[in-house]
Amino acid sequence: MTSNGHQSETSPLLGSEEHEDSLSTPKSNPKVRAIVWGSLTVLFVTTVILLVGFEDYFGDAFAPWLGKLPKDPHLAALAILDRAPVIVSFGTGLLYRAIWFLLYTSGRSYWFVLLFFTKCLLPSVSTDLPILVRSSYSNNVSAVDLGSEMPGHVDIPRLRKGKVGGFFWSTYISCPNPDIAGEDFLGATWRVRDTLEQIDVSKLLIAKYPKTFALALTSDDVKVAIAEGKIASLLGVEGGHQLGNSIAVLRQYYELGVRYVTLTHTCHNAFADSCGLNPGIVPLHGGLSTLGTKLIEEMNRLGVLVDLSHTSDATARQAISHSRAPIIWSHSSARAVHDVPRNVPDDILRLIGRGENKTDGVVMVNFAPFFVASPGKASVETVADHIGHIAEVAGKEHVGLGSDFDGIGDVPVGLEDVSKYPALIAELYRRGWDKYELAGLTGGNLLRVMEGAEKVAGELRRAGASPVFDLYEKRPDVGHMRVEL
Ligand SMILES: [Zn+2]
Repeated sequence: MTSNGHQSETSPLLGSEEHEDSLSTPKSNPKVRAIVWGSLTVLFVTTVILLVGFEDYFGDAFAPWLGKLPKDPHLAALAILDRAPVIVSFGTGLLYRAIWFLLYTSGRSYWFVLLFFTKCLLPSVSTDLPILVRSSYSNNVSAVDLGSEMPGHVDIPRLRKGKVGGFFWSTYISCPNPDIAGEDFLGATWRVRDTLEQIDVSKLLIAKYPKTFALALTSDDVKVAIAEGKIASLLGVEGGHQLGNSIAVLRQYYELGVRYVTLTHTCHNAFADSCGLNPGIVPLHGGLSTLGTKLIEEMNRLGVLVDLSHTSDATARQAISHSRAPIIWSHSSARAVHDVPRNVPDDILRLIGRGENKTDGVVMVNFAPFFVASPGKASVETVADHIGHIAEVAGKEHVGLGSDFDGIGDVPVGLEDVSKYPALIAELYRRGWDKYELAGLTGGNLLRVMEGAEKVAGELRRAGASPVFDLYEKRPDVGHMRVEL
C-alpha cells in the first residue's frame, strides 16, 4: 500500500526491469540458460529415441510410457482390465489411440472425463450368487459375508482380483414341477414370489456393500459406477416361467430394476419354447407363442434386453426377427465347437451383426464345462475356442463373457472362479486379439447392446407406444366377474 501517492510498491511479479534492479534480482546469464536448455533438449530427444527405437531391450517396465501393452500376456491382460479399455465407437484412428495412451499412462481421473466421449469396460458376466444365498443362507443377507471367502465362485476379494467392473445378478428360480404347473402352465407355482425374493436378496446385498456395488439401471449408470471404482450391478430374470405368464409382471420387474429377461429356462412356458438340456425337448409352440411376440414388444418398449440363452433355435430365430432392439445370450457358447442344444448354432450366429438383414447382439460365453467340451476337457483354452469361433462367425464385436459362476457346479481348468478372468484375457491376447477387441469382449460389446436397447425404448415411448395389455388366453381368472361369498 502506498502512503505517499507514488506507485513505488508494485508487486515484484508485475514489477518493471527498473524495479527488479532495485531489488537486486540476479539476472540470468543467457549463456548458462542456453546450455541448460540445450542439455535438457538433448536428454529428452535421446530418451525418446532410446525408448522408441530400442524398446525391445527395456522389457515391460517402460511399455506403459510408450502407450503399449506389456509383452507378457498375463501382464497385458491385467493392464487391459485395469485401465478401463475403451471401445471402438468411432474407429481406431489417431484420436482413439491418443485416448488409449492417456488412459493407459494415467490414473483414473482421466477416465472419468473420457467416459463422456467414449465407452468403457466392464467384464460382463452373469452370476448366480442370489441362488446360492437362497440355498445356503435361506435368503438371510445378514449372514452373508461377501468380504470373506464365499463357498461358491463369487465374493468381493475375488471379484476385485478378477478385475470385474460389473455383472448381471441373475435372479434365477428353477422351472416349476410340471405336475404342479400343468400342461397349460396355469397351476400356482410360487415362481413370482420366489423371484421377488431373489430380487430382494440381490438389492439387499448390493446395498450392504455400498463402497463395492452400485445398482445400475442404465448403460450410463454402469459407466458412472466403474468410474467411481465400484462394481456395476445389473439385475436379470432367467426364464419366462418367472413371469407367471403375465406381461404386467414384466413391467413390475422392470420397475424393480430388472434389465434382461431370458425368454425360457430349461422348460417351455406360455411365451416360448425352450431347448431343454441334452438331448433337448419336443417343441410346444414351434418357437414363440403369440403372447411371446407381445412380450418381446413390451420388452422393447421398456428397454428390457431379450435374452435367448436356454431358448430353442426356433424361438431364437423368431425373437431375432421380431425384436426391434439388440438381443443377448447371457450365457451360451458355440454349438459348432461343442454340440449341445444350449449352445448357439452357426446359422443363428450369422443372423447377428451390424450389416444389412442382421440384428445387433452379443453372445456372452458360458463357462459351464458341460457346454464347453467333452467331460474333463473344459479349460481356459477351450473357452477361448468358443469365443474365437463366435468372433469368426458373428464378429468380434458380438462376443462377451457370460460365465454363469455360482450357477454351475463344475468349472473349467484355469477358470475356477471370478478371479480368473485375466487368464482368459491373456489367452486371447496370445491368440492375437488386440486391446480394443478385448475391451469389447470384456464389456464394451454389451454396453453397446444396452445402449441400443435404451435407444429403441426411447424411440418407442416418444412415438407414443402404449403398454401391451395382452393376456395369456388360457387364463380363466381375468375378464370374468367373480362373486365370492
Ligand atoms: Zn442358465
